Amino acid sequence: MLSNQPVLQFVPSKRGGTILIYNRNSFVQTSSKVRWYCSKKFRGCRMRIVVTADGQFVTEIGEHNHPPALIQ
Ligand SMILES: [Zn+2]
Repeated sequence: MLSNQPVLQFVPSKRGGTILIYNRNSFVQTSSKVRWYCSKKFRGCRMRIVVTADGQFVTEIGEHNHPPALIQ
């Protein structure tokens, strides 16, 4: 159902790419346009999310190994 569709926010990054904001964490796009990894992946966080090609939330995989990185 779409009624509880999570809010995904796509914002431009400083380096010209796109960052995805979801549930008070930021995600970076991988080579696959539908998979986004937590921006703290380099710290060992394995949480990732899958979206459709047009930016609709599909699912999240795993859990963060840290508190939410964003205030809002
Ligand atoms: Zn994370």
